[in-house]
Amino acid sequence: MKIILVLNAGSSSVKFALIGIGKEGEEQDLARGAFDGIGQVSRWSVKRFDGLANKEITISNGMASNHKEAVSHILTWIDQNYGLASLTAAGHRVVHGGADFIQPVRLDAQTIAALRTLVPLAPLHQPHNLAAIDSLNELAPALPQMACFDTAFHATIPDIGRQFALPRAITALGVKRYGFHGLSYSYIANELARQNAGLAKGRVLVAHLGNGASLCAMRGGQSIATTMGFSALDGLMMGTRTGSIDPAVIFYLMRDQKMTADDVEAMLYQKSGLLGVSGLSNDMRTLREAAGNNRSAREAIDMFTYRIVREAGAMIAVMGGIDALVFTAGIGENDPELRADVIKGLEFAGFSLDETANNAKNRKISTAMGPVALVVPTNEEVMIARETAVLIDRDHK
Ligand code: AMP
Repeated sequence: MKIILVLNAGSSSVKFALIGIGKEGEEQDLARGAFDGIGQVSRWSVKRFDGLANKEITISNGMASNHKEAVSHILTWIDQNYGLASLTAAGHRVVHGGADFIQPVRLDAQTIAALRTLVPLAPLHQPHNLAAIDSLNELAPALPQMACFDTAFHATIPDIGRQFALPRAITALGVKRYGFHGLSYSYIANELARQNAGLAKGRVLVAHLGNGASLCAMRGGQSIATTMGFSALDGLMMGTRTGSIDPAVIFYLMRDQKMTADDVEAMLYQKSGLLGVSGLSNDMRTLREAAGNNRSAREAIDMFTYRIVREAGAMIAVMGGIDALVFTAGIGENDPELRADVIKGLEFAGFSLDETANNAKNRKISTAMGPVALVVPTNEEVMIARETAVLIDRDHK
């Protein structure tokens, strides 16, 4: 069995998974964990799925003051539990592959340098992905490392949907729609092909609704449109991000309200969305609990729902109709009320909710009439492990 270490580094966290892949492609989750609160009070939690103890520890300030210390801690744990020599390769989630990386790639000095040039396209995410790559390179130089991209799945979007209506010289700089959540969409496309090949060939709208949220219109299992754009800020309203906004708002805030570009960026990414509108939380569970007697919380949920329905309408038009709608990620998988409201909003497209199935957390939540609505749990880590294993096999041939 190959054991793949999957790393997903954010601004203050490094999440990891150990996934085993057998000779016949059978997959096994061995362990998952995270180092949170890097640079603050760090929290280390890890769960083994192969019978041994789970662990959750809060580590006092300074234990992981940077990504390298967090990666080092993860490697130590792996060494103590499995032996570092058992690892076949590592796969990194990398947010931006730019125009060139439309497939997973083996990391070496040249590819890492190329990924560094993409930092301006994803300044809030790419540097953390690179920090994990650099750390692992230093700490385990013999371990093959691969990068798997959130943008790659959307390489099939036609130019007409990819370009902004900007002067060509600006488009030539790479200012266009890339789209994100591609590892999740790719996993869902594979699951659909496995479970229902007929449906997977059709017009499928996937709603990835987590703390980050986007929609992807697929035809024949390929992305033809998505709501995120040049950055992961565009499209739907999210936990703390605005989603689409009239760009003139930004000029107004900078010129008239004297906010700096950094202030506006921080506000749009970290203080808006469900959190900004509710003034309470970016966590949908908290908002649901509060919504009964908190108008702002109710309004935040209603706006979140409205924006999904509105953007879904555009995606359905682009696909020329719809055969299936798939809900996935934290909110999509766990919030039946949200799913019900979205499906009701899409009744114009023929959807009809099966309320009992929706509340019972069934896979299929639509009635026999109209297009199909499904709930399919995503698994980005498994997708990264699969892509990494394929690259390793190819290199060894
Ligand atoms: P993700 O980014 O995919 O981990 O999703 C995180 C989001 O899922 C947060 O807004 C959570 O509040 C939301 N979530 C998780 N469980 C539930 C649930 N049972 N009901 C509503 N939202 C949930």
